[in-house]
Amino acid sequence: GETIGILGGGQLGRMIAMAAAQLGYRCHIYAPEADSIAAEVSAAFTHAQWHDTEALARFAADCAVVTYEFENVPVAPLSAIGDVPLHPHPRALETAQDRLTEKHFVVSLGGRPAPFAPVASAADLAAAMAGIGTPGILKTRREGYDGKGQWRIMEPGDADGLDLPEQPLIYEGFVTFLAEFSVILCRGADGDIRYFDSPENVHAGGILSVSTVPAAPEVEAQVPAARELAARIAETLGYVGVLTLEFFATGDGPVFNEMAPRVHNSGHWTIEGALTSQFENHVRAICGLPLGDTRLAAKGVEMRNLIGDEAHDWPAILSDPANHLHLYGKAAARPGRKMGHVTRLTLG
Ligand code: ATP
Ligand code: MG
Ligand code: MG
Repeated sequence: GETIGILGGGQLGRMIAMAAAQLGYRCHIYAPEADSIAAEVSAAFTHAQWHDTEALARFAADCAVVTYEFENVPVAPLSAIGDVPLHPHPRALETAQDRLTEKHFVVSLGGRPAPFAPVASAADLAAAMAGIGTPGILKTRREGYDGKGQWRIMEPGDADGLDLPEQPLIYEGFVTFLAEFSVILCRGADGDIRYFDSPENVHAGGILSVSTVPAAPEVEAQVPAARELAARIAETLGYVGVLTLEFFATGDGPVFNEMAPRVHNSGHWTIEGALTSQFENHVRAICGLPLGDTRLAAKGVEMRNLIGDEAHDWPAILSDPANHLHLYGKAAARPGRKMGHVTRLTLG
């Protein structure tokens, strides 16, 4: 079959590759880490740095289409991919890589994030805290994930001892939310948009812990407005593939948190819980194929992440036959590291 190139070597790439194999494609992983868990289930692996344009060009020459599973792939070297189609369009990467750019873009399309201000100095931070108030969260504009690169500021004094990193930051007002949810859509090459049911997401220590579908009714009520924003974003970016937006459901409607130009942890429940998974639909979209039905395949679904040593006793997890266990094959369990997940379906 044809070869799909995947930039990034983690569990998202691994699950894209597994879905691609079902459709008869082979995958070629490009990643800077030698021990890629996506490469383990793929036909080819280029182990090279993001800025190695010669390696990127050789990789692309083997691929019919290229996609990415990691949102911090540097954009400039991607021109080395040349004429090979790259989906989603790299302008989605550019937008999502900087929290400030992303928020301005979303506001321009009618979305509503938490109040925010860029911070480049201690004086900026004091001004942002005075204008927006506390509590708030200070975040690095780039490269944060799983709550890394974030500082919670509960009261003005909390900022005093802060050793600010030498990189651009953003201060956000703390949102009092009823719940968190995500919009996960897939846009086909022909512009067809399919939405998955929106999971309600619970985070612990900045890391996704549990996603539940369907969301509570008061959360579900905010999904249509959130989907409209997501569709405008996808259309404006000329997006092809799976796109995820994270929201806070508030007493005042949905508040945008952030977007991910890729398949998403809060969509892992779709492997068993939707008629077509986010991974299969992403593959279909980037390969120019018609999209599959995204409807729920059960009455309800719960996906729980296995973080750190939670994946240790997998026979115990499997002793309940209702558990679908996914282990990512990572060698070392470190605190906060996503090792796998468990999905449970509730039947009608
Ligand atoms: P991801 O792994 O989802 O990319 P991230 O490091 O980009 O995570 P965020 O999504 O910005 O982090 O924040 C992680 C979590 O922290 C959110 O899901 C939410 O629970 C909480 N959080 C972040 N920003 C705010 C905010 N402004 N108000 C309230 N809670 C927030
Ligand atoms: Mg993020
Ligand atoms: Mg997030």
